[in-house]
Amino acid sequence: MKLVTLDYENKEVHEPIKYFLDPNFVYIPLPDKKEKLKKEKEIKKENLFYDGIYAPISGELVGLEKCITPKGVGINCLVLANDFQEKVSKTIATRKKINSLSKEEVLDSVFSIALKRKMKYQNVTTILVSGIDDEPYFVNESFVQRENTKAILETLDALLHIYPNSKAIIAVKNTDISTIMAYNSILGTYKNIFLKMIPNLYLIGKEEFLTKYTHIRKNYLYLTANEVYNLYTNIKKRKPVTEKYVTISGNAVSNPFVIRTKYGVKVKEILDRFYKEDLAKCTLFINGVMHGKVMDLEKTIVTFDFEGIAIMKENKQKIKDCIKCGKCISICPINSNPLLSYKRSKKVRCIDCGLCSYICPSYIPLQKYLSGDKNESIT
Ligand code: SF4
Ligand code: SF4
Repeated sequence: MKLVTLDYENKEVHEPIKYFLDPNFVYIPLPDKKEKLKKEKEIKKENLFYDGIYAPISGELVGLEKCITPKGVGINCLVLANDFQEKVSKTIATRKKINSLSKEEVLDSVFSIALKRKMKYQNVTTILVSGIDDEPYFVNESFVQRENTKAILETLDALLHIYPNSKAIIAVKNTDISTIMAYNSILGTYKNIFLKMIPNLYLIGKEEFLTKYTHIRKNYLYLTANEVYNLYTNIKKRKPVTEKYVTISGNAVSNPFVIRTKYGVKVKEILDRFYKEDLAKCTLFINGVMHGKVMDLEKTIVTFDFEGIAIMKENKQKIKDCIKCGKCISICPINSNPLLSYKRSKKVRCIDCGLCSYICPSYIPLQKYLSGDKNESIT
């Protein structure tokens, strides 16, 4: 397995977590053009809008607006104005104990579709938890674990009950001292949950690489720490997940921080409220410097796949000609050949990790060509 350590400076986040749970508006993506608009205007918090999409606030639907997802896709959104009353249809009591629930009882909770599908796996003998962020500068997974250590362990204990004779392994980076300390203070009471220190390599927390590194190849259930915490919300609190941890960091940020915010908030509003440093001469990458995009902040909304913003000092490096050094090929962790896309517009297998662009001494943004739809020949 060939993974590398990136030479971006590893910024520690010392700021306490911030909260943005009272936005004036949230924007609810309409999943399908044919999806009918909701007839009722008054919306209660946690009401189901569409498959897996729940209202993060209570309020009134006031219109439609075209927004952009963190992947850069334009999408029509319902605009929900906050009444700041957090009204819910019915109050559901938190379950007192979850470590003796049957699989049916667990699956009877409110789930995201993806998690529910995962929870149906049979013959699981290892629950493999990745507590590792896969973007330099981002620390969402770390913060989820530090803030909710007990909840994560309690949830894993409940999962171990529904997969008899299984064990849980939580993988954390060996450089993530705060998270390791948070676990070590209470892990002793859980005899089938183990902490595994992992070297600081880019992408090591991804399922494909973590299973290789740990030699756990079959009968496993892979979850991120954030997913385990979401399960806690679903199973213990019996609520849908409507909030998200996001990081604001980068080499231009003097005090990086993590925010817990509502789904559907506009990214620009987060920055306006919490980021007071000068953005002139900076480039803002939605979802990070390795596989993120520079986008229109005014329109981008927080969705399930939004992780944060990397605010980077302007890079004045000019794109030069390819010198055929082959570095982009040798660094690719899945053995693809990005040059085939760049030279011949061929679509190649790609996990959008950004390593080929990162390593290129000619500063060629190879990622732009990997879909195979651009043709810029080199000689
Ligand atoms: S694209 Fe960049 S990394 Fe790849 S061979 Fe050319 S100069 Fe080297
Ligand atoms: S972005 Fe795609 S082609 Fe480039 S190194 Fe990563 S996986 Fe390979």
